[in-house]
Amino acid sequence: MSDAAVLAVDIGGTKTAAALIGRTGEILASASAPTPAQAGPEAIVDGVLDLAARVAAHGPMPSAAGIGTAGVVDVVRGRIISSTDSLARWAGTPVRELVADGLAARLGVRLPVHVQNDVDAHANGELRYGAARGADSALVIAVGTGIGGGVVIDGAVRRGAHHVAGEIAHVPTPGAEHLRCPCGRPGHLEAIGSGVGLYRHYAWLGGTAATDGRGVAALAQAGDQLAARAVHDSAAAIARGIVAAVTVLDPAVVVVTGSVAAAGPLWWTALRETFAAEAIDVLQSVPLVAGELGGDAALLGSAASAWDLVRSGPDSGTDSARGADGTDNARDADDRVPAPRTPDTEGDAR
Ligand SMILES: [Zn+2]
Repeated sequence: MSDAAVLAVDIGGTKTAAALIGRTGEILASASAPTPAQAGPEAIVDGVLDLAARVAAHGPMPSAAGIGTAGVVDVVRGRIISSTDSLARWAGTPVRELVADGLAARLGVRLPVHVQNDVDAHANGELRYGAARGADSALVIAVGTGIGGGVVIDGAVRRGAHHVAGEIAHVPTPGAEHLRCPCGRPGHLEAIGSGVGLYRHYAWLGGTAATDGRGVAALAQAGDQLAARAVHDSAAAIARGIVAAVTVLDPAVVVVTGSVAAAGPLWWTALRETFAAEAIDVLQSVPLVAGELGGDAALLGSAASAWDLVRSGPDSGTDSARGADGTDNARDADDRVPAPRTPDTEGDAR
């Protein structure tokens, strides 16, 4: 192997994307296809392998693979711990093992494979190549159809004791009490702050002129007062969640990405004003910045994790490289990818 590229995969509820990515984050080849989300784990993994074979045919043989996937992931074991119904029967899937075996069969080479939650991959992308580049600590919040978050401490994405660090979606949030979160509880941030939550809040206020969060945002930008109130309330809730997290973590920077964060200046103004009104004085200077990598963030973050495996040795990322205690030497590597570049991509992150 030439160590010229790694394979990166982003498994989402609707789309799976794969790319060959070079050492400085350059995308050498890419492909995507609908995720067979309701067909079961075998079909999802087969879809990953099909895309991997397609991109591998158009570039150098990859040296490692990094997978970002929806669901709560045990990074050490490369398995899915839990998942919503957006990926049917995904919980319990040994993704690292299945992908490593499948790639060996398809490409004729056994690659080390790293698996992580897609929002953690997204955060890692912004950390290594994007808006949080060079930061020692950061909070990365993705606001799209749902809400995700990643926590960077000491230059690396941290998952916590239960693999859910940064899951700001489920923080109880003032102003969301009238809406039920997808987790089943009332009043969580995602219930009002996500794209779906924005729409549901607009409908609760009596709005009937839009059918989704994107429509509400468009109406608001066009001057519709009710839609503007819904956008304000939704963004203000996000700001309160950020204030809570920032007060606990004291990050150097907060990166806000995702399709809702691209909704326009009304949303950002409400976010910044609420943050300024509610954060303590010493935290007023924490920058709230937009993500730079758009839809490529998770792929680039997965690629960075795969490059960590390449640097840490040929057998890392496989069970044979791990001690009996299951420790993972690769995942907390704090060396950075040299000469980061900012891809000239844009678009919705999630
Ligand atoms: Zn919740």
